Amino acid sequence: MAWNGWGDPARATPLPDSVTRLLRDLLGVRPAQTPPLRLDQVKVADPRLPGDALTALAQAVGDPYVRADAETRIRHTRGKSTPDLLRIRAGEVADAPDAVVLPADHDEVLAVLRICAERRIAVVPFGGGTSVVGGLAPRADGFTGVVALDLCRLDALVDLDPVSRTAVLQPGLRAPRAEELLRERGFTLGHYPQSYEWATIGGFAAARSSGQASAGYGRFDEMVQALTVATPEGTLELGRAPRSAAGPDLRQLVLGSEGAFGVITAVTVRVRPAPAVSAYEGWRFPSFDAGTAALRRIAQDGPLPTVLRLSDETETMVGLARPDRIGALQEDGCLVVAGYEGAEEEVAARRAAVARTLREAGGEPLGAEPGESWAHGRFSAPYLRDALLDVGATAETLETATFWSKIPALYAAVRDALTGALTEAGTPPLVMCHISHVYPAGASLYFTVVSAQGPDPVEHWRRAKRAANDAIIAAGGTISHHHGVGTDHRDWYAAEIGPLAVDLLRAVKRRVDPVGILNPGVLLP
Ligand SMILES: Cc1cc2nc3c(=O)[nH]c(=O)nc-3n(C[C@H](O)[C@H](O)[C@H](O)COP(=O)(O)OP(=O)(O)OC[C@H]3O[C@@H](n4cnc5c(N)ncnc54)[C@H](O)[C@@H]3O)c2cc1C
Repeated sequence: MAWNGWGDPARATPLPDSVTRLLRDLLGVRPAQTPPLRLDQVKVADPRLPGDALTALAQAVGDPYVRADAETRIRHTRGKSTPDLLRIRAGEVADAPDAVVLPADHDEVLAVLRICAERRIAVVPFGGGTSVVGGLAPRADGFTGVVALDLCRLDALVDLDPVSRTAVLQPGLRAPRAEELLRERGFTLGHYPQSYEWATIGGFAAARSSGQASAGYGRFDEMVQALTVATPEGTLELGRAPRSAAGPDLRQLVLGSEGAFGVITAVTVRVRPAPAVSAYEGWRFPSFDAGTAALRRIAQDGPLPTVLRLSDETETMVGLARPDRIGALQEDGCLVVAGYEGAEEEVAARRAAVARTLREAGGEPLGAEPGESWAHGRFSAPYLRDALLDVGATAETLETATFWSKIPALYAAVRDALTGALTEAGTPPLVMCHISHVYPAGASLYFTVVSAQGPDPVEHWRRAKRAANDAIIAAGGTISHHHGVGTDHRDWYAAEIGPLAVDLLRAVKRRVDPVGILNPGVLLP
């Protein structure tokens, strides 16, 4: 993973000149004044852990698995939001963890938590490091240091039950490896977030992730059957049966808890037979409203494709859903991408039924090319963000969800808030949106924003983000559909659930983490 950007540095792709020109002419983007630093130019402060901490941690996990060198600490500093990248490019690493600890199993995680609780050291569970909401940026004040608990050594497929179609996965498995291990046995998880290449099973559960194929395979939290969790106060084993009437479902308390209540050390997930065929296609709708109505019909009456997404007019025009054609500026209307995975006959029947509904709802078939182009470029947008930052643009995404009846108002409110805040700051933006997760009762809205960076790019984006967050809450949306809460959404999450619910969650945290070492300041104020 690039230390100051996204993904595999070998796949970095510069923007075509035509796009750079477009950014300059349309949005006033100018090259950044200061070139980004090299890794060896970034200065990190000396670690500040209590005297015997490193020795105790090394006894718990083995000497090679406690690291305090500058590069490892820098690589575990915060996550991959645009402000995270802007700050690390500028060499800002004051909140680098003091050490990185790599346990091998559940018992070692328990031992690390005990050692840290005794010494009041904050612990950041670290999966793929792809959080975009400040989930890896805990509060350090009041603690004697911060340790990043990197779970990459817990990377096994522990068990597969082909009868129940469940698999027990360790949390540090990155998604492609988990998929590979399951495919070797004829199964798939079917979880493909845009961060697929780097994010982990534990991170998906901890942040309630949702993948691009959620219409077919469900959200990650819907796949989870059972969880093993290490806390400073002991172990939680949750999930004895797929569904249960034995009291509140405590799995739901851990899903989305972002490391604040414990460290997930095993996840039992539902798996499906690996699909025999996959096919993607494109449809055009005259407007976002018409496309939204079509998606609602499919979500409510079925059958559902495996992938279903609708770009608004701006996203369609820019070609964001088809990275091969980005910047071509020749599409009109709104693009729907529908994808199908499964057994051959089943896919053919579902495809025909969905096509009937899309046609009846006013859709025009565009054939396979737009869908295949989306599928081909589905993981490349994050590389594009690095290239945009390089040329002096800010590019960031945010997301929310609501009920179908409120979608138009929420869409307008967030778009207007982003446009208003950035225009006022002197950098009118391009605001694009798509729907890519649908439910019978509602859907998510995913916004992508591009603008010139402004003199203080981090504060510049934060202003826009605050305006969008306020607009989301005011319009009745949720502060996150799948990125989670972290530190960036924490105050709006508190507003969303109210003070009594915040106190309830604090009481839970006090019981499992009395010293408060687990991700302090993440999730809860
Ligand atoms: C370019 C890009 C695209 C993205 N696209 C999507 C998308 O399509 N869908 C989506 O849902 N998200 C997306 N995300 C967000 C992110 O990838 C998800 O939140 C993902 O679930 C995080 O997984 P991770 O392994 O990287 O976790 P990390 O970022 O390492 O951690 C996330 C949070 O969970 C905690 N945590 C991690 N592992 C554990 C554990 N084992 N036990 C307890 N707590 C833990 C961390 O402390 C942190 O608070 C994207 C992010 C980027 C940068």
